[in-house]
Amino acid sequence: MSLLTNKKALILGIANNKSIAYGIAEAFAREGAELALTYQNERLQSRIDKCAESLGCKTVIACDVQSDAEVEKLFAQLKKDWGHVDILVHSIGYAPAEALEGDFTQNTSRDAFLMAHDISSYSLVKLCQYADKAGLFTPTSSVITLSYLGAERIIPNYNVMGLAKASLEAGVRYLAGSLGAQGVRVNAISAGPIRTLAASGIKHFRKMLQYAQAFSPLNRNVTTAEVGNAAAFLASDLASGITGQTIYVDAGFNISGLPLRDLADGKLTDLENTDPA
Ligand code: NAD
Repeated sequence: MSLLTNKKALILGIANNKSIAYGIAEAFAREGAELALTYQNERLQSRIDKCAESLGCKTVIACDVQSDAEVEKLFAQLKKDWGHVDILVHSIGYAPAEALEGDFTQNTSRDAFLMAHDISSYSLVKLCQYADKAGLFTPTSSVITLSYLGAERIIPNYNVMGLAKASLEAGVRYLAGSLGAQGVRVNAISAGPIRTLAASGIKHFRKMLQYAQAFSPLNRNVTTAEVGNAAAFLASDLASGITGQTIYVDAGFNISGLPLRDLADGKLTDLENTDPA
């Protein structure tokens, strides 16, 4: 028997096969879970259909998380098709590109702030609210979202997304408190930088990869497969005692103070000539 045999997993946030949610879906499929995927809009539908096909997933449903009607419809369909949801993965984030560069103080508009928080943080609350209302959670259900270190530290250009992720991580704790009495666990994975569609919206993302590698104890960046494996653990009954946490899958970057190897050699890091792996 595999880790997720007989578990039904709803995964929101695949844009293409480079998405973190795709790495999670691959790990879940390998571990025996039955999958349902969503797509944000018609523009992305054919790509998600292709992803679903390669994952052996038969259920693909439209869901823009800014639409309460679509969220409600999603859970109504899952209620009919599945009756319950064992695993809910929220791998969704967005802020307008112009807010992801430049000076934070001068470059953060109210519109960008509201949109980033609505899509990247409030949507997790909304999804849990509707899943709960529809009676879809079981006494062992697991909810997982994706965060980033910018929630806790200043990361240049991450700007308003840092605030949205801080709100998301607080939301994880409040949801864990609210849903815990029925056995539902809620956790976040704080992933290191990975080249995806969403990441390409952050100015100088390549440099972020270079720094992450230079500072990480493992001296490299992480993959969507590694995030997928951690998510499979958190979704499984092996993690039954873990809730309300933010777990780092970042090659250890979050514990580092200075670039490790170069300074240990007495040299300064030449990041310009570092090839990110
Ligand atoms: P991605 O672009 O592949 O995925 C982002 C997803 O969000 C897309 O599928 C997009 O359709 C979806 N989305 C945006 N607005 C939506 C809406 N209104 N309704 C429904 N879906 C919507 O990029 P990714 O890097 O895989 O991002 C997934 C999550 O991981 C995000 O929360 C991101 O902040 C987080 N994350 C990414 C990194 C990284 O470096 N790539 C690091 C840490 C955390």
